[in-house]
Amino acid sequence: MPAEAILYTNNIPAIVYGKNVDSVLLTCLSCGAEYHIHYSNSEFRRLADSRILAESRINAEHPNHERSILL
Ligand SMILES: [Zn+2]
Repeated sequence: MPAEAILYTNNIPAIVYGKNVDSVLLTCLSCGAEYHIHYSNSEFRRLADSRILAESRINAEHPNHERSILL
């Protein structure tokens, strides 16, 4: 399963998506939209890359933030 960045509002995820939740908060530089990466155990080694990818996608999608971003 791929990793996915999930949009959070008031610390509540927009989608219930199991797996591990990355504690690192990713935010849109323009509006502050907040995302956390949810990932399966097999994706753990890609986590650092996933954060970089997610951050660029979040900022690229502004102002149309989706509830989730497949990574
Ligand atoms: Zn934004």
